[in-house]
Amino acid sequence: MLVVMEEGASEAQIQKAIDRLVGLGFDVHRSTGVVHTVLGGVGGKDFEPELFAVMDGVKEAHRIVSPYKLASRSFRPGGTTVRIKDVEIGPGAVVVMAGPCSVESRDQIERSAEAVARGGARVIRGGAFKPRSSPYSFQGMGEEGLQLLRGAADRNGLLVVSEVMDQTQIPLLAAYSDILQVGARNMQNYNLLRELGKQRSPVLLKRGIAATIEELLLSAEYILSGGNYDVILCERGIRTFETYTRNTMDISAIPVVKKLSHLPMVADPSHGTGRRDMVPAMARAAVAAGADGLLMEVHPDPDRALSDGAQSLDPQQYAELMLQLRLIAKAVGRTL
Ligand code: PEP
Ligand code: MN
Repeated sequence: MLVVMEEGASEAQIQKAIDRLVGLGFDVHRSTGVVHTVLGGVGGKDFEPELFAVMDGVKEAHRIVSPYKLASRSFRPGGTTVRIKDVEIGPGAVVVMAGPCSVESRDQIERSAEAVARGGARVIRGGAFKPRSSPYSFQGMGEEGLQLLRGAADRNGLLVVSEVMDQTQIPLLAAYSDILQVGARNMQNYNLLRELGKQRSPVLLKRGIAATIEELLLSAEYILSGGNYDVILCERGIRTFETYTRNTMDISAIPVVKKLSHLPMVADPSHGTGRRDMVPAMARAAVAAGADGLLMEVHPDPDRALSDGAQSLDPQQYAELMLQLRLIAKAVGRTL
């Protein structure tokens, strides 16, 4: 905790800030500069820096330690590898998770699974419960979709990732899916996060549409603090003033998260751009920037998809992209 006093702050104001720090359990180290007095607080309880910033005579106040502990890089400096069957998601190989936005039919998911497995993906994605902006849009096939997804995955040697929308769905999702996806709209559904902390299923936590990186890491902290350490983070684009793309793909979030946290970080260029013609460039950029994996939408017939067709690659585009991604992975010292 660092409290910087205003130029000319009175001794009474300085003393008041010191007393408050001591009251919160801090050891206070006072340093008197030419212009400002700076109070360094060591130890002590968590607090809101703003409570100090509004005190008379205080110029600014900062927390020095990060508000998240278990998610921070210092907790596991070597990084975390999430192991699921024979797939490792972490600092080693780049893991591709690909498949349609939604499971739509047996034929669609079987063709998707064959295509993504052939190209080198290790995990198939597909929503059975869809968080759609409109209540009139296709909402997903539910349990039947999960059964079709599991069958197609098993026939093609793939793991499954699928979205869980609320805590009542956890047992169902855990029965069919190897990784439970928490979507952008649910990144701050704290009841869901807490419940996932009590589970043993790995969680793919997507960044909220307007969430800062710190908020993403605090959401991960909810899951970790419950005892579930298998958390994978995902950058999927954020809402900005730019309207050309569906979202603004924050590639810089990848190196930032890798610096701040030990958790694996993957990128979703499909929701990040909303456009199939932009997906390859952002997928390549994400791997070059150090992503541990990609989550991509691939559909056997994107123009007829029931959701997110415009941002879904067809099998041919996906196969070509995978060849390029292999070269980029190699250039940055990874395999794919
Ligand atoms: C999805 O992956 O299909 C999805 C709904 O993503 P997001 O939560 O990032 O919008
Ligand atoms: Mn989608």
